[in-house]
Amino acid sequence: MGSFIFFGGAYGQASKPVDSIQLEPIQVAPHTYFVQGFPELGSSANQNFISNSGFVVTPAGVVVVDALGSPILAQKLIAEIKIVTNQKVIAVIVSHYHADHIYGLQEFQKIGAKIYAQGEGRNYLSSETAKQRLIASRVDFAPWVNAKTKLVSADVWVDQKMKLSIGGIDFLISRVGPAHAPEDLLVYVPSEKVLFAGDLVFRGRIPFVGNADSKGWLMGLDQIEKLNPNIVIPGHGNYSVNPVEDIAFTREYIKYLRESMSAAAINMDSFEDAYKQADWSEYEGMPLFKAANRMNAYNVYLAIQAE
Ligand SMILES: [Zn+2]
Repeated sequence: MGSFIFFGGAYGQASKPVDSIQLEPIQVAPHTYFVQGFPELGSSANQNFISNSGFVVTPAGVVVVDALGSPILAQKLIAEIKIVTNQKVIAVIVSHYHADHIYGLQEFQKIGAKIYAQGEGRNYLSSETAKQRLIASRVDFAPWVNAKTKLVSADVWVDQKMKLSIGGIDFLISRVGPAHAPEDLLVYVPSEKVLFAGDLVFRGRIPFVGNADSKGWLMGLDQIEKLNPNIVIPGHGNYSVNPVEDIAFTREYIKYLRESMSAAAINMDSFEDAYKQADWSEYEGMPLFKAANRMNAYNVYLAIQAE
């Protein structure tokens, strides 16, 4: 885990943060690798390395899924890919437009990769939320996210299912949701039996629900199970060789949030009481419980009222 150390600059020079974050690609299938972000909140210390990114090496170029949470992380990923193969990165597929998955996009754009994302991402890019989030991130993740970090639009907006065939490897890109985000995408590589599930599947930490559509999310999990992948690379946490079990964790969590909040939400009873009354013992020990659970429950409470 990265620690953040300031060395006082000699002769009155400005202090410079020491960069201690390393990316280590893990191979999960013959042509597929991923790097795993930390199960913590984004910070300057971790360079916002809190999400995963995967890549598939084909004889005609490398396809990356998700661009990580800061430009420097994307640069490091590009350098790691160069160690694995001399193929160039030719495509990046964005699982969804959340900050921790997209702030590295500009580095892939610089090296000429084509960016694919779900059509609803256009709404995110033009939203006030995206703008404000970037402004906040330039402070929260300084100096790694800074004035030069920008939001990057896709070259190809995926408005319906599509198949990308690169170097003899098929990538089945399907829209799902609105689930975790309005613009969720799944990327399935049948020859590898690997599914990139974005933030529909969480492992080893409390899921981030945000403004998710929890009903759509449950449907999305059914869609994932139908693909019957051998391996799932989630947006956060370790990869899964037992997708059914790991999908069940996310499903049970979302279901439990809905169950524990629905009566109060429908009867307009107080959120505070409903939250206190719910039994969180199964989740309390997990990373990000403190940071995310209460907010998740509150968002689900509000969402049920709006349904
Ligand atoms: Zn995420």
